Parts: sequence; structure tokens; C-alpha cells
Amino acid sequence: MIRYRALGDAGEMGASAHLVTVDGAALVLDAGLHPRHRRLPDYGPAQAASPLAIVLSHAHMDHVGSLPVARRLLPRARIYCTQTTRSLARVALRHHVERDRGYAATTGLLYSRDEVESLTFEDVAYETPHALADGLTHLTLFDAGHLPGSAGLLIERQGRRLFYTGDTHLVDRAYQLGARLPEAPVDVLMLESTQGANAALDGVEQGDLVSTLIEEIDKCLKIGGRVLLPIFAFGRAQEIQTLLARATLSGALPVVPVFVSGLPAHVSRICDGHASRIRRVLPHVRFDAMSTQSFEDGQGHAPPPGPCILLAGSGMLSDGSLSARLARSLEGDPKNSIIFVGYVDPDTPGHALKAGDREVAARLVSIPFSAHARRADLVEIVRRLRPRHVVLVHGDETARLALGSLIGAVMPEVKIHRPAPAQTLSIALSAGP
Ligand SMILES: [Zn+2]
Repeated sequence: MIRYRALGDAGEMGASAHLVTVDGAALVLDAGLHPRHRRLPDYGPAQAASPLAIVLSHAHMDHVGSLPVARRLLPRARIYCTQTTRSLARVALRHHVERDRGYAATTGLLYSRDEVESLTFEDVAYETPHALADGLTHLTLFDAGHLPGSAGLLIERQGRRLFYTGDTHLVDRAYQLGARLPEAPVDVLMLESTQGANAALDGVEQGDLVSTLIEEIDKCLKIGGRVLLPIFAFGRAQEIQTLLARATLSGALPVVPVFVSGLPAHVSRICDGHASRIRRVLPHVRFDAMSTQSFEDGQGHAPPPGPCILLAGSGMLSDGSLSARLARSLEGDPKNSIIFVGYVDPDTPGHALKAGDREVAARLVSIPFSAHARRADLVEIVRRLRPRHVVLVHGDETARLALGSLIGAVMPEVKIHRPAPAQTLSIALSAGP
């Protein structure tokens, strides 16, 4: 018997946290926090189940942001992840504590810096089965190709096999190679559904996105403009830095100063420190060898004069961020370009700017880079793993419905589950694999 219950957001993206029980052994997979609403998962059902492990798929806040709270409420559970995820998670959690101080006066901190520093992790290498504390349950991590250190999680116990994709990207990008998967078959596949309804990405290849970006930047630099790329520090910054370096080396872009702001540059340095553990497209790529200049996130920092490329957080121009201030400084000049290179949430200043909330002279461009598998790739994951059951997670209801019908059309024998919040799925597996 395998049981599943969403502890965080079931029918939307937000706080990812899942309670799974495989033949009586309970585990919590991910311990996320809604990035904007500070909404915690409900760890009550996990406390009742007394899990032996908390396993982290990767270091994005919607997957690790409530880890100190989970640690407090589930003291028996050990925390498992890759070494790279451990390093990046600490950075993400420290950054959150700094930002959270702004809320503390009214609502109190969700957790303290001390709680972040006192977390202890058990490092797990890719593709090496790791026995959990009960000695009967085994965990194997597979590179998910989504963020340095990211992993899909294979849980095996008494011949039962559950695989959770975490967030995944199946094909190679500029910096990271695509995801690896375990041997088929698995009994239960927990599949992320982010792009499940996004037909616009069908047939869009990484190479096309890269070419569009390089052309846009080149066009702007040629007329003496400055290019702002509002950027997400974890993952997207490393992809964009790599492809800019490649384009400059090949002559597709002129040599101009490239500025990278504090947090993205810090994350890239950490990736350099873990380079041997990150499956990279170009094995010798190092960020500290790229000719970028740091751009500190000081209040009122003015953009440098002359043609240049500016990579600055936040990716959604959050209020008070460096990218928001740079956008205000650059938007009045028609020679400049502001290029969004990823998802921008509705209700954010970045979305409002894209939607035309104010007149700007600068060129605004959106290029739909994504760290999530396209829907055809998600179906391909199901085809390769041949599960008996698929539990659709990490996607809104529209995405999960669309992806469920796509899978059903290709593999009608697979049972699809779209669990509701607070619903416990009980999946009986009569015969072993
Ligand atoms: Zn993610």
C-alpha cells in the first residue's frame, strides 16, 4: 500500500510538501513555502505519522522554504538531499530570514537565523542507493536537470517503488544537462505538472530561445543601449551567464561589460564550488572565470553608462529590488531594452510593466525560458517509467487536467490521480512488480 497526502498546496503551485507512506514507512518529500504569501504547509498529518525522513528535491523556496518549521515539528525525521542542494538551501533560507524581518513587526518571523544555521543534513550522491534510518527503506536521487543539485527521488521498500520528479527539465540547456531517470517500471509516479496546459511551449527548442535572446541583446547594444535582464538568482542566472559567455566567445555578441548583482553572483560562486557534482553541458565552465563584474545591491545604485548587460534580481521586479530600480532608471530611453527571461507572476510589478501599466520608451521583450519540462516531455517521462499510478502535483487545476488527459490518451492503462487538498490517496498494489 502507498499513501499520499499533499501537506502544502495541492491544486496550485506554492508550498510543496508531500506526505507519502510506502508499506508503513512515512516520509515527507519537500518542505516548501509559498514564495509570496508566506503560507506554510499543514504539518499536522505528518506529525501524526512520525516520518523517518524529510527528503528535499531542490533548493527553490517553494520546496525548502519551511524546512526550519518542519525540523521543529518533526524532530525524529532526518533531512536528506544532495550536497549542492544543502549549500543552496542554506543561502535561500538565510536570504528569506533577512527579507522576513520586514514582516516580523506584525506577524513575527516564521523562523530564526539560528534555526537555519542549526539544520543538519545527510548528503546523498546521485544514483547511489542510500538506506534510511529504518534500514528497510532506500532512497536514490537522480539529477532532475532543473537547478544545480536538483533531484528526482526514488523511494524503494519491500519491492515497492515510488518516484517523485520534483521540478524537472528533461532536455539539456546552456549550463545543465537534462534529467536522468531510474529504471522502469515504478509503481507510483508523482509528476510535476507546471507546464501541463502550456501549449505555447510545444515545439519550442532551447536553441530558438537562445537565438532570440542573443539577437535582442545584440540589437540593443548595436544602437548604444543598455540591456537589463531581471533575473532569478537560483538556476536562471547560471543558465543566462553561461549562454552570454558562450555567445561572446563565439562572436555572436560584442564584448561589453556584463554586471551581475549580489545574490545571483553568490549562487554562481557556490555552483563553482560544487562544479564536480553538477552535470554540466560544458564540463570546464566556471563562473569565476567569466569576465563579469559585480554590481552591489546598494540603495540608489545608478546603472553604469555605455552599452552593457545587467543581470539583477529580482526576476519579477519586486518592490525595492535592484532590478526594479534599474528598470525605472533605464525605461525612459528608447535605446535600452528590458528583457524578461522567465515566468513573471501576475500581481507583481514585473507583470504590470509587461502588461503596459505605464508608458515606457525602452523596448520590452519576454522570452519564455523555463526550468520546467514541456508537457510533451512530461508525457515522455511517464512513457519511460511505465508507472501503474500517476499522482499529478505542482500545477494548477487546469494544468493537471490537461496533462492528465494527454497521459490518458497515450497510456490509457495508467491510473491518474489529482488529489485535492487534505485528501489522502490510498493506492493498493495487489501484486508486486
Ligand atoms: Zn523549482
